[in-house]
Amino acid sequence: GAEIVFVGRSNVGKSTLMREFTGHTFTTGKKPGVTRSPNHYDWAGADFTFTDLPGFGFMEGVDEEAREAIKDDIVRYIEDHSEEILVGVLVVDGKAVIDIIDRHESRGEIPHDVEMFHFLREVGIPTVVAVNKMDKVEERDDRLDALCDRLGLPGPWQQWRDTIAPISAKRGQTAPLREALETQLREQHRDDLL
Ligand code: GDP
Repeated sequence: GAEIVFVGRSNVGKSTLMREFTGHTFTTGKKPGVTRSPNHYDWAGADFTFTDLPGFGFMEGVDEEAREAIKDDIVRYIEDHSEEILVGVLVVDGKAVIDIIDRHESRGEIPHDVEMFHFLREVGIPTVVAVNKMDKVEERDDRLDALCDRLGLPGPWQQWRDTIAPISAKRGQTAPLREALETQLREQHRDDLL
């Protein structure tokens, strides 16, 4: 059936967001690397499932090989389900994401978040970036403009409200993501699912 997938680096607050969105209480993400398989949840009243994919990137106590295997699993899941996936949600930590991207780029590496964003779009999945932990961000517009720049979206960020959703999962401030998802579904004429 139809699904919305959530991907993100470990510790960005993806579990907190899933909990807030679905009302389920669960404890993924507490033991990094342990949750290797996708979790499926319902969105109250909607005719699709939310799929929580394992966290990727650096995790304490998880070696490079295991991290690569997790990322391969995520990529394979998305490729295998691209027909059913209506929207991809890339969750990032608004406080840390720019520094992390720039650090990787300065080492000549492709940052995971940038790679995942382009990958989702390449396989034809409309993608929303949930910029979490915005409660910790002071120069809000600057930070969001910088993120657009790193993702190759010509700013200002306000032009991308269907794609860039600044939220604070911990504070329950997730309306921008809800609205972006609704817009994405409407554009695909799938708002009948809501
Ligand atoms: P996951 O590994 O991506 O599933 O991350 P978790 O949901 O386990 O959250 C990681 C940490 O970030 C926890 O300490 C959360 O309380 C915290 N966190 C999650 N969302 C927010 C948020 O919106 N703001 C702040 N300040 N912290 C958050």
